[in-house]
Amino acid sequence: MARLVGVSRDPLEGPARSERMSRVRGAGNRSTELAVEAVLVEDGLAGWVKQAQGVRGRPDFYFPAERVALFVDGCFWHACPRCNRNTPSTRREFWSAKIEETRRRDNRVRRQLRRDGVSVIRVWEHEVNDKRWVRRLGSALAKRRGPRSRADAGPDST
Ligand SMILES: [Zn+2]
Repeated sequence: MARLVGVSRDPLEGPARSERMSRVRGAGNRSTELAVEAVLVEDGLAGWVKQAQGVRGRPDFYFPAERVALFVDGCFWHACPRCNRNTPSTRREFWSAKIEETRRRDNRVRRQLRRDGVSVIRVWEHEVNDKRWVRRLGSALAKRRGPRSRADAGPDST
């Protein structure tokens, strides 16, 4: 087979490629989402749906029985305060505006979900491999699954 040395060809071209790019732009980070899904499966956390239709903000993962929403957010698009990545120097205003818009929408959606009684867990792209988010999620689910464990606990609750 002939090979072009030094030329990297994108295997996806045309519609497939632009479809992929629009998903990258729209959903933040696809590979991060897949990594999160792998962790959920690995840790036996079941009962979720992906890209939940009909739930405000369409959470990346949603646990309908417990009403827990999990958002997987790319650090760049969602303006992660820790990574605080610089916006590209070209078309700076354009990027800043887009990112600010995303950040505002995130805040609004989360506020509304919480008001609706949904627990919201956010996983940043940079913390996918640091599984502290799994514990946050696990305790949010446990809280919803055991209504008598805390809420109705008497004076002996700790
Ligand atoms: Zn980050």
